[in-house]
Amino acid sequence: MASISLKHVIKRYGRGDASHLALDGVSLEVAQGEFVALLGPSGSGKTSLLRSVAGLERIDAGRIMIGENRVADHSHHVDPEHRNVGVVFQNHALWPHLSVFENVAFPLREARLASAEIRHRTTEELARVELDALAARKPGELSGGQKQRVSLARALVARPGVILFDEPLASLDVELRREMMRHISQVRSADIAMMYVTHNQEEALGLADRIAVLHAGRIEQLASPEVLCREPATRRVAEFMGRGNLLPAISDGMRDGVCLASVAGLRLPVRCQDPMAAGAALTLAVTPCDLVPVSDAEPGLRARVVQAFFQGHSGWSVDAELELPTGVIPVQLTLDARLHPRRGEHLNLTVRNAWVIPA
Ligand code: ADP
Ligand code: MG
Repeated sequence: MASISLKHVIKRYGRGDASHLALDGVSLEVAQGEFVALLGPSGSGKTSLLRSVAGLERIDAGRIMIGENRVADHSHHVDPEHRNVGVVFQNHALWPHLSVFENVAFPLREARLASAEIRHRTTEELARVELDALAARKPGELSGGQKQRVSLARALVARPGVILFDEPLASLDVELRREMMRHISQVRSADIAMMYVTHNQEEALGLADRIAVLHAGRIEQLASPEVLCREPATRRVAEFMGRGNLLPAISDGMRDGVCLASVAGLRLPVRCQDPMAAGAALTLAVTPCDLVPVSDAEPGLRARVVQAFFQGHSGWSVDAELELPTGVIPVQLTLDARLHPRRGEHLNLTVRNAWVIPA
């Protein structure tokens, strides 16, 4: 049983002018039983954060606790094997000369458990990831998805309080990803804290209780998937969460507790975190489902369809350009499957559920 706690963690690679600040004061708590995803573009510090928790990197300042144990600070570093953590890497990191069984059993042999206990626990873990039939194979005789399941079983076999994942699905194709997501979500339990690094929004949204969005070694926002999608704290989070539209607007102040704003003269009720003074320049985040075609007689924004892709039951995914007096803004919309958007066609769009980005 364990939780993870990071306070003001700083991680720097190299020294002097050539040094690079990979973690710039990260604070984060992952409760026992919780699944937190670290989401961010390449180079944002996700792997550095994960490796610092695992004990594979030394931190320069701050502190890391696992459960009640202080495992790292500026002067103190507990080695990985004494941290009670299991790690699943993108590239499996299996021993090629050992069988599947021996790969999974390895942490227990290191811990010098009795052989009956090793056999029992290893068999149990292999069954959990549905690999009992392949126990005698070598990693070279497995598919990418099977290798990753061996890696998951090995991370779990010593019953760690913390499991860390670094892009475990990155080298798998779409179908195997879904299957591996199922195995990973089955690992969730009340006594394990899970930290999961990815640059893939879908994985983070689908698996995590909370998501920390990283940028340049800092957490931009830490929130539930729902809040992150509906109420991004910054432009960067809105952009990174994908398919979020950003529209320039002017505040029309508040009326009856509701925030009002105008986009190129179109007046809208909007969702906002803070009271807004009339006249302030704003950025609105709007999902593709919330840019909605209306008849030409209604007030709206003129948009030209650039391209449209039919997506089956979920309708059309449309790239369009809003033709505002101040310039053209690329936007994405999702249109009902019964419509027939055509390239070059003009639409009159209204905006629903817009969120005023606070920062
Ligand atoms: P991510 O996993 O989000 O892609 P990383 O944690 O791997 O990010 O890297 C964060 C930053 O630290 C990047 O700019 C990267 O180039 C740098 N970095 C990572 N590892 C090292 C290293 N061993 N030596 C020097 N710089 C590194
Ligand atoms: Mg990485």
